[in-house]
Amino acid sequence: EEIIEVKNLSKTYKKRKSKETITAVNDISFTVNKGEIVGLLGPNGAGKSTTIKLICGLLIPDSGSVMVNGISMKEKRLSALSHISAVLEGNRNLYWRLTVRENLEYFSGNRGRSSKDVASEIEDLLDAFNLKEKETELVNRLSRGMQQKLAIAVSLLADSKVILLDEPTLGIDVQTGYEIRKILRDVVRDYDRTIIISSHDMGVIQELCDRTVIINNGKVVTDDKVENLLRLF
Ligand code: ADP
Ligand code: ADP
Repeated sequence: EEIIEVKNLSKTYKKRKSKETITAVNDISFTVNKGEIVGLLGPNGAGKSTTIKLICGLLIPDSGSVMVNGISMKEKRLSALSHISAVLEGNRNLYWRLTVRENLEYFSGNRGRSSKDVASEIEDLLDAFNLKEKETELVNRLSRGMQQKLAIAVSLLADSKVILLDEPTLGIDVQTGYEIRKILRDVVRDYDRTIIISSHDMGVIQELCDRTVIINNGKVVTDDKVENLLRLF
């Protein structure tokens, strides 16, 4: 069952202070089924981030469409977006002057749950993400890796069906990167979400994904199960 349909998406940027343009995404199409973990693999500059930002509504495409759970992003933007959480570079959605626990409490609000359920959900996440020791730490005092873990935990609190992760281990120390991959593999999988992960690292995709869409120069090069791609190497 299809949950994301990306159809003929294109996006061109204007270069700053010049008339030149760059086509970051050039007629990209792919679909994602419910429950799948799909990798967007490609070198730096391939158009992965732009594709993710188009899917999570941070950018508007020049042409093409995104459907989320059968809802058109163009026609019913808010309703389509309610099914998506994104963990993007820089984690600008976190509250830098609140603690780890306060961020989790903030993002678990307004969902019509009892405070007891919320409290136990937060305990579970602090445990699973190994953030218990950091719960009273301000976010701006955390390492990038810890911030990334918190951003992923927050994305699970939103109850959205689809989670987008843009280069989740890029620029993060080796140990925390390993821990994040383990969390994505073992914890996030149990949350019954559909996940799209962008990475330039085949190892990350191989470890975490069922299928990978390879993009280069803004175009889809291959779309296949990871096991089939590995046969090529
Ligand atoms: P990736 O995530 O695969 O590294 P991006 O989607 O970030 O690729 O970038 C694709 C291309 O678009 C690159 O050439 C990049 O420099 C360019 N680009 C991305 N964002 C902007 C922007 N805001 N303005 C101009 N060019 C951009
Ligand atoms: P990523 O590593 O995720 O591909 P980048 O490092 O390419 O992201 O981009 C970081 C930020 O700078 C993004 O907001 C992107 O849109 C913007 N950006 C990227 N390339 C350019 C560019 N050539 N000109 C202007 N902004 C850019």
